[in-house]
Amino acid sequence: MAAGEGEDKKSQQHIVMLPFLAQGHLIPFLTLAGNLRRRFGAAVTVTIATTPLNARYLRAADPQNHIHIHELPFDSSDHDLPPAVENTEALPLRHVIKLFHASAALETPFRSLIRRISVADGRPPLCIISDVFTAWANDVAAATGTVNVVFSTGGAYGTAAYISLWQNLPHRTSSSDDGNFSLPGFPAAHQFHVSHLHPYLRAADGADDWSRFFQPQIGKSLKSFGWLCNTAAEIESLGFEILKNYVQKSVWCVGPLIIPARTAVAGIDSRTGKKFGVSPEDCLRWLDGQSEKSVLYISFGSQNTIGLSQMTELALGLEDSRFPFIWVLRPPAGFDVDGEFRREWLPAGFEERTARKNQGLLVRGWAPQVEILGHRSTAAFLSHCGWNSAVESLSQGVALIGWPLAAEQGYNCKLLAEEMGVCVELGRGAECEVGREEVRRVVETAAGGGRKAAEMRRRAAEVGRKIRAAVAEDGGGGSAWKALDDFIAAVGGRTNLIVP
Ligand code: UDP
Repeated sequence: MAAGEGEDKKSQQHIVMLPFLAQGHLIPFLTLAGNLRRRFGAAVTVTIATTPLNARYLRAADPQNHIHIHELPFDSSDHDLPPAVENTEALPLRHVIKLFHASAALETPFRSLIRRISVADGRPPLCIISDVFTAWANDVAAATGTVNVVFSTGGAYGTAAYISLWQNLPHRTSSSDDGNFSLPGFPAAHQFHVSHLHPYLRAADGADDWSRFFQPQIGKSLKSFGWLCNTAAEIESLGFEILKNYVQKSVWCVGPLIIPARTAVAGIDSRTGKKFGVSPEDCLRWLDGQSEKSVLYISFGSQNTIGLSQMTELALGLEDSRFPFIWVLRPPAGFDVDGEFRREWLPAGFEERTARKNQGLLVRGWAPQVEILGHRSTAAFLSHCGWNSAVESLSQGVALIGWPLAAEQGYNCKLLAEEMGVCVELGRGAECEVGREEVRRVVETAAGGGRKAAEMRRRAAEVGRKIRAAVAEDGGGGSAWKALDDFIAAVGGRTNLIVP
């Protein structure tokens, strides 16, 4: 289908999207919505349905109003959550599960929205695109005469591991003493370890709050019409095969979704509506003053953070390493995630010493991550291995140091380190011990002048080329665009063949 201007309303197809209430989900959903509009122009109308505060974020990130944003009423205080909480980033981890359960309250207003659209358009939407965690949209789709396609904002390998782990809880029945176990859907030789699992998953028994949310949602998501995945099969063919076989449905690899360049208006990130802790200009100017491929960028994403003693060791190890760094600081685990960052959380004199030597730029709050990763001075990225961060880094040929903390980050890190060879793991989880000497050693390994760093960089550059080819728009477009065509053809024709 070609982009067509001037189509009348009758020939327009409506797609309604339902992201989960987390920054790392909203951004790829918005980017996918933008790609649908780019590819199919006026032939599609895209509506994203979300809660009022998240709607405000999305509107700020789509100033041209290409995407309809529909507000679903939601009051967090009805769900034993603090007032005005509509996004996981505003919550300490122990409360996050409440938001997961509370998100099911969106089903009734979402169903009304689909009914209203069906009446206004004279037919049901072409499809719903839900999140893995809002897979109750399958019931809405069945009741309103459309289909639901699940969009996994993660990569294929990480998604497959995540859903298989929650569905099967294989570590509970494993007989091995060393903590290793195999995972249904993965080759037997491909062992996971209990330390890859978040403590909530490690302790899950099928009856706890986490299992009671994830198991039915994942079960439902497997009954959807098909899956969209935020990856390209050519960067993780093993993960793609495993996911496709596990879900037994078409999997359209429409990614990795790299966000378009953004602008900062009055200190606000136009993509997320977040206030920058440093202006992109100041940040890039600081990077301009550093030598090529010398800087370590450190961020644990939009909602994770490390502990206080881990922060101390990381700071001291960075100082010892002498590598220049940009570190995005969030309050350590156990403190108010939205509170001010306090100086005493860092070793005495650390900030002054590293500033004086021009070794460090500390960012309190939100950083222009994509711009930092694209700068020639950036050598490596110490990351929690959130999927967006991983692909943003690789698309610029920047290798990673992994310190996964939650969600599917541990499996992403395993993929990046063991399958792709673009990452070295420094820590695993919010409770692990990482000493300053280990920090210094790993930073040198990944960002220094040795053989391992060169090899990781070479591989990252290779993956970066594949990512850029997948998302390229010229000559009919790369695999991400072709997958979008195939997906639209399949929902249009209601055929559901497994992609060969
Ligand atoms: N991000 C950013 N500035 C920050 C922290 C994060 O721009 O200071 C963006 C980052 O570029 C990425 C997203 O937030 O697009 C984080 O997504 P990811 O999947 O890596 O991790 P999550 O936040 O979901 O754990």
